[in-house]
Amino acid sequence: MGPTSLLRVVLSVILVALSFSQPDETCDTNSAPPSLPHALSLNTPQSPLDPSIAALKRLYQVGLARAQNNANTNHDWTSLLINSDVSSEFSFSSSSSASNLLSNATMFLNTLIETSLKAATTNPNPPPFQSINVIGAGPVGLINAVVASLHNSNSNSNSPRITIYEKRSENFDRDIWFDVASSSVNTLSRNYDSLNFLRSLGLQYATHLNSTIHANVDGAGGTILTLPCSGLQRFLHKVLIILDVDIRFDSPPDTPRALLAAPNALTIISDGANSQTSQTLSLEHSPTPPDTPPHKTVIAHLPSHPDGSCPALKKDARGKVIDPYFPGFNLFEPHGITSVFKRFFHNHCELQIFFSSDVDLTLTSNLDDAVHDVVYLLLEFSTPLDTTSVLISDFSVLPKRLTNVGGQLGGLRYIVVGDAALSAHYRLGIGVNYNIFLANTFLPKLLSGAIPPSQYSEQVSEIHVETQKIMLRYIKFESECNMVLFEDLVFARDNSKKDYFEIDWADANAGLYCQKRQTKKVAKKIPLDFHPQFIDAILGRQKTLTTRIVSSDVKGGEPQLETIAKILETNPFYETFVTADNEIFADIVITGVEEFTVGTLTDRHAQDEQFKDKEVFKAKLKEFYKPLPENEKVFIFKFKVINK
Ligand SMILES: Cc1cc2nc3c(=O)[nH]c(=O)nc-3n(C[C@H](O)[C@H](O)[C@H](O)COP(=O)(O)OP(=O)(O)OC[C@H]3O[C@@H](n4cnc5c(N)ncnc54)[C@H](O)[C@@H]3O)c2cc1C
Repeated sequence: MGPTSLLRVVLSVILVALSFSQPDETCDTNSAPPSLPHALSLNTPQSPLDPSIAALKRLYQVGLARAQNNANTNHDWTSLLINSDVSSEFSFSSSSSASNLLSNATMFLNTLIETSLKAATTNPNPPPFQSINVIGAGPVGLINAVVASLHNSNSNSNSPRITIYEKRSENFDRDIWFDVASSSVNTLSRNYDSLNFLRSLGLQYATHLNSTIHANVDGAGGTILTLPCSGLQRFLHKVLIILDVDIRFDSPPDTPRALLAAPNALTIISDGANSQTSQTLSLEHSPTPPDTPPHKTVIAHLPSHPDGSCPALKKDARGKVIDPYFPGFNLFEPHGITSVFKRFFHNHCELQIFFSSDVDLTLTSNLDDAVHDVVYLLLEFSTPLDTTSVLISDFSVLPKRLTNVGGQLGGLRYIVVGDAALSAHYRLGIGVNYNIFLANTFLPKLLSGAIPPSQYSEQVSEIHVETQKIMLRYIKFESECNMVLFEDLVFARDNSKKDYFEIDWADANAGLYCQKRQTKKVAKKIPLDFHPQFIDAILGRQKTLTTRIVSSDVKGGEPQLETIAKILETNPFYETFVTADNEIFADIVITGVEEFTVGTLTDRHAQDEQFKDKEVFKAKLKEFYKPLPENEKVFIFKFKVINK
C-alpha cells in the first residue's frame, strides 16, 4: 500500500468515526461514540470522498443500524466488519450493545492503522512487482497477503495491487482449530511471536471469536490462543478488506496461464497440501526418506452436550486431567495408541489420536476398538456414550516438502507458501505459526527487491529442510518407539512407574529405550551373567563394558556370545539382561561389540575395565579363563542399563 492507499485507510477510519457522531437517516446513535485512540487523531489532510471510503462508511452505518435493531444480517461485508456474536459469525446477539460493537470495531481499526503506520518507512526503490496474485485464501494465503499489503506501505509510488483468488465460496466453515503461540512457546517457529503479529492487526478486539487463551503454558509466561480456523480466516479477511485488498471467492484462477499473462507480477501459491497449482507447474516434492511412514492419526469427533459443552474429562490419581501421552502406557499394547490430544471447545469436542506406525488403520474393527477404549480411558460419562455416534476422520501426517519454493517459469515469478510448500504437522505448531514467521521474515525482503525469487527458494528451503527433519524425527520417535518428544527434549517411558524419564539425544538416536509392541516379533532376550561383585558398578553405570572369551575350548568360555555378536551385526541394540547368581538385576541394551585377540588387547581396553594396564588385565582374565593363548578370540561388549 502506498501513501495514497494508507491515507485512504486513515481517512476511512476518520470518516467512520465522524459518522458515529453525525447521525443520518440510516443510523441513529444515541450512545456516545467511543473515544478515539491517538492514531486516529493524526492531523491527516482531508481528501474528496472516494468510492471505497464511501462504501466503508455505508457499511458501518448499516452494521450499526442492524446491531441496534438486533436484526440478523445476511452474510455480507457489514457483518464481516463489525460482528460480535459468540455463537454465529453472521448474526448479532441481543446482548451486544451498539457502543461495544463500535468500540471494538474502532479499536480494531485503530490497531491496524498503527501497524500500517509503523510499516510505513520511506523506501526509495520502486517496487519490483506491479501486482501480486495470491492463489488460495487459506490462513497462509491470507497471512501473506496481509504482510504484503503492510509492506506495500513502504513503497512511495505504484504499490502493487494485491488480488487473492480462492476457489471456495465466501460462506464456508472449516472444522479445525489452531493454537497460535507467543514466542516462548514457539521454538519450532524460531521463537517468532505469531500471537503478537495477529494482535498487531487487532485480533484482540475480535471479541466474537470463539477463542480460548491458555496463559503461562510453559511456566515462562508463554501464551497460546486456540481459535477456530474459520474464525482466523474471517478475521484476516476483515483485515484485508480494510487494507483494500481484492479477494475473489469462487474464483480459482485459470492457472497458470491467466497469471502468466500478468505483466511484472509475483504469484504467491498458497493452495494447500494438494496444491493443484504446483502440480500444473510441475514443481516437484523432495523424496521423503524411504522408511518414513506417515504419522498415523485420526480425529474422533464426539457429540457435545445440548448446551455446547464437551464430556467431562477423567482425572488421574493426582487429581489432574490425564495427560496426552498417558494412553501410551495403557493403550499401546492393545491398540498401538501413543498419545491422545483433547481439543475441547464450545460445541466442538475432538480427540486427536496418534498411533504407532505398525497399526493397520484401514481395519475398521481396529479403529473402533481403539476409539472405544480411548473414550473410556479419558472421559467421564453419566450415561455411557454410544461410540457409534463418534465420527472419525483420518488426518495422517506425512510432511511433504517442495524442492523449489520460488523462482521463475517463463514469465511467471512465483513463491510457494504454506502447506503447498511444506505440509504441516499440526500438533507442532508448524502450520500457522511457522508460516506467520516465514511470511514476516522473507516476504518483505522479496517485495523490496532485496532477494530475487530464486534466492528466496534457497533461503527458505534451508529452513524447510531443517523443519521437515524435526517433523520426521517426531514421527519416528513417537510412532516407531512410543517415546515422547517435547520441543528439544526426548523422554522414554518407565512402564512400571507409568512415568517418563528424560534421555540423551545420542541414546535416542542409538535406538535405546525404543519401545516396540509385543504383538510384533521381537528378538528373545539373552542373559549376560556377571559376578555379584560387579552389580553395583553396573547399576551405577560405572561399568559399561565387559570382555569375554567365546571359545568353548576355554574354561568359562561363552559360546552363545558368538551368536549375539552375529545378531548384532544386523541388529544393533539387541535387548538383553544381566544376571548374577542366576538372578536378573537389570535390563540392558548392547550398544556395540568389538572383536580382538588376547594378544591385541591394549592398555586402553585395560583402563576401560578399570585395570592399570594390559598386562594386569590379561593376568586377571587368565584367572577366569584357562588356558588363554594369545590368539584366543575376545569380544568386548559395550552396554547400557535401561531398567533396573
Ligand atoms: C486437524 C488439523 C489440526 C491442525 N491444527 C493446527 C494447529 O493447531 N496449529 C497450526 O499451526 N496448524 C494446524 N494445522 C495445520 C493447518 O491447518 C495448515 O498448516 C494450514 O491450514 C495451512 O494453510 P494453507 O493456507 O497453506 O492451506 P489450506 O488451509 O489448505 O488452504 C488452501 C486454500 O486454497 C484454496 N485452493 C485450493 N486450490 C485452489 C485453486 N486451484 N485456486 C484457488 N484456491 C484454491 C482452498 O480452497 C483453501 O482455501 C492443523 C491441520 C489439521 C488437519
